[in-house]
Amino acid sequence: MSKLVIHQIPCLSDNYGYLIHDPEADTTATIDTPEIGPIEASLKSHGWELTHILNTHHHYDHAGGNLELQEKTGCAIIGPRDEADKIPGIEKEVGDGDTFLFGTHEVQVIGVPGHTLGHIAYYFEEEGVAFVGDALFALGCGRVFEGTPEQMWSSLEKLMALPDETTVYCAHEYTQANAKFAATIEPGNTDLTARIAKIDKLRARGEPTVPTTIGLERKTNPFVRPSSDEIQQTIGLVGASAAAIFTEVRHRKDSF
Ligand code: ZN
Ligand code: FE
Repeated sequence: MSKLVIHQIPCLSDNYGYLIHDPEADTTATIDTPEIGPIEASLKSHGWELTHILNTHHHYDHAGGNLELQEKTGCAIIGPRDEADKIPGIEKEVGDGDTFLFGTHEVQVIGVPGHTLGHIAYYFEEEGVAFVGDALFALGCGRVFEGTPEQMWSSLEKLMALPDETTVYCAHEYTQANAKFAATIEPGNTDLTARIAKIDKLRARGEPTVPTTIGLERKTNPFVRPSSDEIQQTIGLVGASAAAIFTEVRHRKDSF
């Protein structure tokens, strides 16, 4: 099995698109379709032909380019079963616990509802990489638009159960804004302080702060650290359930 080649593409104002390429099978997928131009330019520069679209959820900055790319390339579209009616051009519907082959690589589908009701993540266990769309961000998580906070919390728990070394490719560069919020929730977390200094340096040079890893989020992301004494004290919920703590942190971020 050849190694999966991953290429990250800045799209729109703060989205990331991703091309993944399996050299052995000569298959190439785009994770979501935020913006046609940069995706096509990247395909061309690599000499790759698009064979698949893997959608994480139905929002326009994720599935808005589906039909145009499908028309131009004839690629197959795989997406979330639980919101299939909102995914333009979908051919293969997948949901939590499903696996399928992308070229020679097995892909595991993880249902991560909350941001949208059908949101899914794509996990390549052998490669140790996960494409999480708008479920989890560097130092943040997606807004809970369609589901409940409890649902979002159990989605994040599933992602946090992946190995620490897992590389996490999320769909937006929101890290610096997330960092400002995180610093108000857990100011005494020295891992967080050190990470914020790195983030500020990267952004000052215009460089991405994505991908991240599960381990790094576990140490620094205030949305997935309900057992932190400092977080519990900051939000006044000492000893509360993890879901309740998550809910309050999410609520505070929404009005930050
Ligand atoms: Zn979204
Ligand atoms: Fe998005």
